[in-house]
Amino acid sequence: MMIRKTEAIVLRSRDFSESSLVVSFYTRDLGKINGLAKGIKSRRKKYGGYLQPFTHNDIVFYQKIHVGLCTVSQCNLRDFFPAIREDLEKTAYASYFVELIDKTTPVQDENIEIFNLLLRSLTLLSTEDAKKICRIFEIKLLDLLGLMPTITNCIHCGSMIRGKARFSASLGGTLCQKCFYKDYKSTPILKGAIATITYISKQGYNQISRLRLTSAVEENLREVLNLFLGFHLGSQLKSLEFLEKINGNFLTYSRRFV
Ligand SMILES: [Zn+2]
Repeated sequence: MMIRKTEAIVLRSRDFSESSLVVSFYTRDLGKINGLAKGIKSRRKKYGGYLQPFTHNDIVFYQKIHVGLCTVSQCNLRDFFPAIREDLEKTAYASYFVELIDKTTPVQDENIEIFNLLLRSLTLLSTEDAKKICRIFEIKLLDLLGLMPTITNCIHCGSMIRGKARFSASLGGTLCQKCFYKDYKSTPILKGAIATITYISKQGYNQISRLRLTSAVEENLREVLNLFLGFHLGSQLKSLEFLEKINGNFLTYSRRFV
């Protein structure tokens, strides 16, 4: 058995026994891992915050008891993100970030960029506009997962998008006016949304965080990205359902899954 030490962000945790928890982490060095944390619950009472979703920790673990489960022997809390936790809307966004990563990444598939994206997004969520940080997070994650839709050119005929365009989740990109008939379930996508997706996917995080979005473009991006992610996930995320509910978008969201 190998002893490993790494930084880890908790994706989810559940009770395993009186004193133990089964915890999914996204780690800096190994991607997603599932661990059994023994005796943590009693320490949690004493210190609070231990191994709660979207906490940032240093963990020591043994790799592994049997396939898919490591033993976590030490855990030191780095950041509890208190500014997020005292705000219901930001808590909903952070819960969405970790659930989305949990649902889209395989176990032990190292990707330091996904770890950095999650950590940076949680850090910025503490101080910046939650909707904007969420759109950046979704676009960057799609890029890192190799799922970026074709945006600047028509997914069917390849011509450059100039006039009105629609977004097709099932075809994986935008359709020009001539090709709208290819997907009657496609949804309108604004020029500003196309430009924003292109900009965010090409720029580093420092440039992007200065980005300003109009409410029309932000709203359009939300709709297009939710549609696209929903198509890939094939099911609705509990955290997104809650988030849409508190943002007053629940009716639009639930209608898609009827
Ligand atoms: Zn076309």
